[in-house]
Amino acid sequence: CITYRSGLLWIPDSPDQIGSYFARFWDFIKQGAIPSRFAIVVYLGWVVSHAFGQIYLSGKTVKGLPMRGQNGKQLKYTMNGWKAFWLMWIILFGFHQSRILPITVFYDLCGELMTVSFAFSSLLSLWLFLFPNDNSPTTRSISGFWFGRDLNPRFRGFDWKLFCEARPGLPLWAVLNVSTCVKQYETFGSVSSSMLLITFMQFWYVVDYFWNEEAILSTMDIMTDHFGFMLCFGDLAWVPFTYTIQTRFLCSMDSLHEASPLLLAASFIIFVVGFIVFRSSNSQKHNFRMNPSKHQKKGTFIETKSGSRLLISGWWGWVRHANYLGDIMMGWSWSLPTGYSTLLAYFYPIYFTILVLHREYRDNVHCQKKYGDDWTRYCKIVPYRLIP
Ligand code: NDP
Repeated sequence: CITYRSGLLWIPDSPDQIGSYFARFWDFIKQGAIPSRFAIVVYLGWVVSHAFGQIYLSGKTVKGLPMRGQNGKQLKYTMNGWKAFWLMWIILFGFHQSRILPITVFYDLCGELMTVSFAFSSLLSLWLFLFPNDNSPTTRSISGFWFGRDLNPRFRGFDWKLFCEARPGLPLWAVLNVSTCVKQYETFGSVSSSMLLITFMQFWYVVDYFWNEEAILSTMDIMTDHFGFMLCFGDLAWVPFTYTIQTRFLCSMDSLHEASPLLLAASFIIFVVGFIVFRSSNSQKHNFRMNPSKHQKKGTFIETKSGSRLLISGWWGWVRHANYLGDIMMGWSWSLPTGYSTLLAYFYPIYFTILVLHREYRDNVHCQKKYGDDWTRYCKIVPYRLIP
């Protein structure tokens, strides 16, 4: 819809058009999403070079949190994402300047790369499903494939989950946006302020991830969810190709779209406030979990029978999951600069708000199971969910 219909939703006008609708649909797929050999090479080159970065670049070694059901085993991680991210930009810049690989290739091949990433993440999930590391309790069922069998699958020390969480997908999100900016510049002779603002805000989000890379170690994705198709596909295909719909939409318009200065300012303010809430609440919880000995002040946490404490101070004493609230705010700020001409440009915030509401529900169930009466006590002390 974005590429071929300027963002207009495309559905058959009447039942007798369904046949021709799907024929046309297939034409579009053939035209823009059947991968060429070049697209396959670009994607696999991308994944392999990020894997090399994870394996060979130096970085601080950090111990993860004790893993559930594994006698408190703590995995070691090398935190070199920050280095890898900037090295990637230097290499891409060199490729662009020398015209070996102009950055707009990512924009031009977007549909093809999307198909390859879909196939790659499906095959990787299948492989992890068929050959799990641990004697995983999950069986060979559809849900085992979807949710995964291993919690943290590793192959000769290579951590698949940490890799997919961050490496190929997140930087590709930023690269696709920058590629789209350059494409807009080449097409229209300038880059619109809406485009620049969205690209900057999303770039900041990705940079923030790598700057605070360690914080991923205390999240649900690493600690609770197993690694199956849901996370693998989500990280590798879903994130880069759906989170960039806004910028792609702006570039596919017939002319440069400029949002009003008021709308741009409002978007930026919502983003800044959202980011502060998101970052400070995530860091508070992460520091609390990683350095329990530094948090001894009475009245700032409660002890639980599980042996793990719960914060009742800062954001976590005011509202449950302020980090989700901040993230939702940022999500909306990334779509507002596109204006109001198509709902598709609001795909991300709508999807993300639903995801997060469900995630909050899921985490509540998980914590209730883990902490029992202590969670009920925590919920009495902190009754608000998401919104204080
Ligand atoms: P959290 O980082 O909030 O982790 C939830 C866990 O925190 C709980 O399972 C519990 O684990 C612990 N916890 C809950 N309450 C407390 C408390 N009071 N004190 C101490 N620990 C507590 O959630 P997520 O991993 O879901 O999200 C992390 C970030 O990533 C969020 O900001 C989220 O918005 C973002 N995110 C973004 C996505 C995107 O696509 N843009 C997708 C998913 C997440 P335990 O007690 O077992 O340690």
